[in-house]
Amino acid sequence: MHKIAVRALSANTNTELLEKQAREFRAEYVCVYSESAYSDISQRLADTKIKVLCGMEGLCELARLECDIVVNSVVGMVGLLPTLAAAEAGNDIALANKETLVAGGTLVTDCVSRNGVQLLPIDSEHSAIFQCLMGAGNNRPEKILLTASGGPFYGWSKDQLRGVTVEQALKHPNWSMGAKITIDSATLMNKGLELIEAVRLFNVKPEQVEIVVHRQSIIHSAVEFCDGAVIAQLGTADMRIPIQLALTYPDRLLSPAKKLSLSDVGNLTFGKADDQTFTCLAAAKKAIAMDGNAPCAVNSANEAAVALFLKKKIRFLDIGEAVNGALDAVKFIANPTLQEILDTGSAAEEFVAARYGRA
Ligand code: MG
Repeated sequence: MHKIAVRALSANTNTELLEKQAREFRAEYVCVYSESAYSDISQRLADTKIKVLCGMEGLCELARLECDIVVNSVVGMVGLLPTLAAAEAGNDIALANKETLVAGGTLVTDCVSRNGVQLLPIDSEHSAIFQCLMGAGNNRPEKILLTASGGPFYGWSKDQLRGVTVEQALKHPNWSMGAKITIDSATLMNKGLELIEAVRLFNVKPEQVEIVVHRQSIIHSAVEFCDGAVIAQLGTADMRIPIQLALTYPDRLLSPAKKLSLSDVGNLTFGKADDQTFTCLAAAKKAIAMDGNAPCAVNSANEAAVALFLKKKIRFLDIGEAVNGALDAVKFIANPTLQEILDTGSAAEEFVAARYGRA
């Protein structure tokens, strides 16, 4: 029987939800990343003994607390330093923050192995791949089949995409998620980031990962072995399944998620991803082929561009242009240090700001 106790919780600016969760789970610590939310959350929790922290320092302090596992679900490259802090403190990490692995690359994976901690994926596709490899022993996958829903604009032409509004892009067909990742799903940048994440997590070459568009989001990904056997993980599109497994691994527990009925689903379809139209995906593929600081550059350019798009300051197709432009503009470094990764992130953001303004 697993009993999960929560020591600490964090939020960016949503102090109302943070207060509710902190009281419900009797957290010892909370942290708001946005320093402007500090006084509000402090007032909300003034009648409790909960310690209130803020900013990057606060996030890293939470990540270093003595615990069994740190769940990193912050949005964007902000998650990089807390991930490294958790690993250095000897804490296992359940990672929902793909940008950390994309930008940090081997800095993160080396830090994890040097400290002997586990990195458990929460991203549904990577949890699926991880599950397909549970019990695979020494057999390494020859290929990873990374499934993609295709997002709300699957099959659309560039002409059709020109007029896409924020409201249209925020409507994902299968998953209910935060704004940034929903836009990333619409541009296919999310799949590009996940391709890079898969290369990092499972130590495969980029050409060993095949992106398969699967509109129903029932197969969450699959692996192929040398004998041609393909093992897939299936389930309803409910993030509680991968989140729970990351927390209880290697055990499986009862889950409130709806069970899958294949006969109700009926048909499963498969297709190819169009990286000619969805140029963010092309940029991500190019970046992981280059490796070094290139994935960090495309990731940071994308973060800046998506923030601008959400504020209606650029158009949908500008996101791909910003990402490809930053990849060409930012100086390539084959083996970046942590500082060089952080600097690359800033340089890519500056590139986007110079061309399109700030969010
Ligand atoms: Mg995913």
